[in-house]
Amino acid sequence: MRQLTCTEPNTIVWQDVPEPRLQGDGEALVRPLSVARCDIDLFLASGLFPSRGPFALGHEGVSEIVALGDGVRGLEIGQRVVVSFQISCGTCRSCAAGHTANCDRYPVLSDYGMQPLSGTEYGGMLSDVLRVPHAQAMCAPVRSDVDPVALASVSDNVLDGYRAVAPHLSAQPGAEVLIVCHGLKSVPLYAAQAAIALGAGRVDYASDDDEALAIAERLGARPLRTDFEKPERRYPIVVDAGLTPNGLRYAIRATDPEGILQCVSFYAGGDTPMPLGRLYTFGIRFFTGRAHAAALLPEVMPLIAAGRLRPADVTTRVVDWEDAPAAWAEPAIKLVVRRDHTTRSTR
Ligand SMILES: [Zn+2]
Ligand SMILES: [Zn+2]
Repeated sequence: MRQLTCTEPNTIVWQDVPEPRLQGDGEALVRPLSVARCDIDLFLASGLFPSRGPFALGHEGVSEIVALGDGVRGLEIGQRVVVSFQISCGTCRSCAAGHTANCDRYPVLSDYGMQPLSGTEYGGMLSDVLRVPHAQAMCAPVRSDVDPVALASVSDNVLDGYRAVAPHLSAQPGAEVLIVCHGLKSVPLYAAQAAIALGAGRVDYASDDDEALAIAERLGARPLRTDFEKPERRYPIVVDAGLTPNGLRYAIRATDPEGILQCVSFYAGGDTPMPLGRLYTFGIRFFTGRAHAAALLPEVMPLIAAGRLRPADVTTRVVDWEDAPAAWAEPAIKLVVRRDHTTRSTR
């Protein structure tokens, strides 16, 4: 079968690889129909994280189930599903606690399309067939009348944006929210959308990226163009979504005393200065950590089905499956690759 593969930094090609097979009765094989590019994917393909040889790309998408193990309940062949980008079993102690990003049965960062991070190849969604080792835990059904392109990013970035604000707005209903976007492309926009949907009193969007500001405004947030020097005011809930020490410092200074600062960034590439004295003095509560995809899917899918979250509003570019190798490395806030109904799988 064909698999979009990063063979060396900034080199992305279709490669023929062995088709995965069911290896247990709780597994599924799925055929991806739409795949979105995650905010980390450009960094992965650029070689920022050293890889152990070629690796598969793509970890957000909507797929169709093509094979199921005998032990899988509640899913059917032909059904469309969103597949968690993280591999998680659903039954270990961490999964039972909702911490599915850190499943006890797998090494840390066991994700699709991220071999450079985990060292293990689980396959990528830009392929004809993907193996899902824990089908019931990792698949969330999608209604057949929903366009797979609209939900392509739900496996990861949409969930990430949602969890950045949902628990904090639940604790402080109607609170005002600031999203600080300094490098991450789509997660902060999904966070803004979620904050509005969840009833934030006001959602401001600070960025130096005019295209991101325009989308944020369309979503219903107030755009704040900034060079990240000095925030205009403070907020009880601030989301830090970026890459630069300047942006992080701005986000901290924009957080109310006793406020919440939620970080959704990995901050790759060395130590990032953190003014612990300021956080201590003002009682700013700093949250970081990865989204727990499988645990979040059952919470987020109903919001999408009800039309309260509309991930498609963030998508800026949709390309055909055949065009993935070139498009995957080109700039876009949210790229989605869609499989043409007429594209034949080369199994
Ligand atoms: Zn991702
Ligand atoms: Zn587990």
